[in-house]
Amino acid sequence: MQTVYSPRHHGHSGHVELYNGQVVPAFEKPERAEMIRAAVEARGFGATLAPTEHGLAPLLRVHDAAYVTFLSQLTELWVADGRPFPILPSFWRAPGMRYIEPETVDGKLGHFSFDAGCCFVAGTWDAIRSSADVALTGVDLIAAGAASAFALCRPPGHHAHANAMGGYCFINNAAVAAQALLDGGSGRVAILDVDYHHGNGTQSIFYDRADVLVCNIHGDPRQEYPYFLGHADETGTGAGEGFNVNYPLRWGSGFDVWSQALDEACGRVAAYAPDVVVVSLGVDTFKDDPISQFRLDSPDYLAIGARIARLNRPTLFVQEGGYAVEAIGVNVANTLEGFLQR
Ligand SMILES: [Zn+2]
Repeated sequence: MQTVYSPRHHGHSGHVELYNGQVVPAFEKPERAEMIRAAVEARGFGATLAPTEHGLAPLLRVHDAAYVTFLSQLTELWVADGRPFPILPSFWRAPGMRYIEPETVDGKLGHFSFDAGCCFVAGTWDAIRSSADVALTGVDLIAAGAASAFALCRPPGHHAHANAMGGYCFINNAAVAAQALLDGGSGRVAILDVDYHHGNGTQSIFYDRADVLVCNIHGDPRQEYPYFLGHADETGTGAGEGFNVNYPLRWGSGFDVWSQALDEACGRVAAYAPDVVVVSLGVDTFKDDPISQFRLDSPDYLAIGARIARLNRPTLFVQEGGYAVEAIGVNVANTLEGFLQR
């Protein structure tokens, strides 16, 4: 299995987030990707592959043009206004307020985000583009006949909506990849999101479509971020009815409960018979993750990989979350090794 990786993710560093009412260094930091890269190289999966440039067109297949324009121009607008880094949004609309893009940068920041989880520094936009290119290069590998590939994306993507950033996510790499697979000739794609947090952006992007099955196993939104999406009764709408499946689990869930949900999700994926499976691979389900509340242990990730392998479909792994930096490499590499060994 080839790993696609770009050092340009380092451009997104030194950023902050709001946590427990304090501005703190972001949990989503460059060391995460470096620990994963070191682990997959040490495991003998071979050298990493640099991504090729794909431009913005594949991003615009799932994201609104005005949103991508905002992301590409934000740093410029901010600097022109004489503001220091970092950039954090702090104003949002409530239901009933108007959806009209403001002209000024503070208004735009709120218009195109849903929380303060997406901080910009000078190199953030370049890192965002490289992360999407990593996912799209993974798509190229699958399209060329690879049985599997690992897109080591950073920043992650599954919280990003068509028109809004949030939860460390700017461009929805898994959604961009799924759409690129469809555009490349796949008839049906399944996205299996195993990150601890609900992939609200991915669900939202494909909610009214039957050509992408979206399955999510995650912390119950009654307790956990992103709070406002991810309930079990969200099953899709219109043509997409029945093609969105959520498995919300309570805080404290261990691998017994979690693996049962994975079995059920894999059953749904198998019945859908997709041409390709895209796995949104977050390992913040780990027991020592600093911002999460599940209790999976490192050997469990071998079993997760093996279970996904039994679907026997071409599979693109796309990196999402995981914040226990010391263990993130082992947990990701275990997933991939379990997949390869089944
Ligand atoms: Zn997560």
